[in-house]
Amino acid sequence: MGDARTEEIGRNLAAVRERIAAACKAAGREPEEVTLVAVTKTYPAQDVARLAALGVLDVGENRDQEAAPKAAAGPPGLRWHFIGQLQRNKARSVASYASVVHSVDSLRLVDALTDAAVRAERDTPLDVLVQVSLDDDAHRGGAVTGAVEQVAESVAASPALRLKGVMAVAPLDWEPDAAFGRLADVSARLRVAFPGADWISAGMSEDLESAISHGSTHVRVGSALLGNRPPLG
Ligand SMILES: *Cc1c(COP(=O)(O)O)cnc(C)c1O
Repeated sequence: MGDARTEEIGRNLAAVRERIAAACKAAGREPEEVTLVAVTKTYPAQDVARLAALGVLDVGENRDQEAAPKAAAGPPGLRWHFIGQLQRNKARSVASYASVVHSVDSLRLVDALTDAAVRAERDTPLDVLVQVSLDDDAHRGGAVTGAVEQVAESVAASPALRLKGVMAVAPLDWEPDAAFGRLADVSARLRVAFPGADWISAGMSEDLESAISHGSTHVRVGSALLGNRPPLG
């Protein structure tokens, strides 16, 4: 797709990759340690295809109603990352196309996803991150500090899910370094019991440098790649 939009996304992608490389260098890390998840919410399936043509195969969406048709339309070979609050009645749909769910924050959701993943007869387990509420304000999503371990244990015990690590969004009124430092502590504690759960999904367009300095392995980047979304998009 040699169109103007592909060129625009390509330029944005080069800039984001450069930011990731610079942040890795500053942190003494290798860029290969950080997966770029392109968050395509509100943008059309054609942009997903453009990203794929540019070599970005990890795509993130936060609403099943939008993600399901895009996953059906998208080129094969993509890894779909579900990153939004997930209602249990959507678990079946999400388990049919997602490779990773970043936003698991309750025992009830673990049960629903287990059920869904079993029914979907997937070839591989569904990879799961426990979403952590860094300010313990649970209504914005995420398990509060005391519940993270319980949710993780439940994922680890599930026959159809695979515990991969933790995810968080920096609270609006927090310094990113404080937020991602705290998430790194949560990750370190979790890895005592579950050494393989070493993914940290953290960092967005505005704060990916801070997240990478605190060990992020998956940055979720939307607007810096595709442009600013309309408010509440
Ligand atoms: C929208 C969204 C992102 C991407 O945000 P940008 O600021 O556009 O990079 C990342 N994570 C989650 C959970 C999101 O909902």
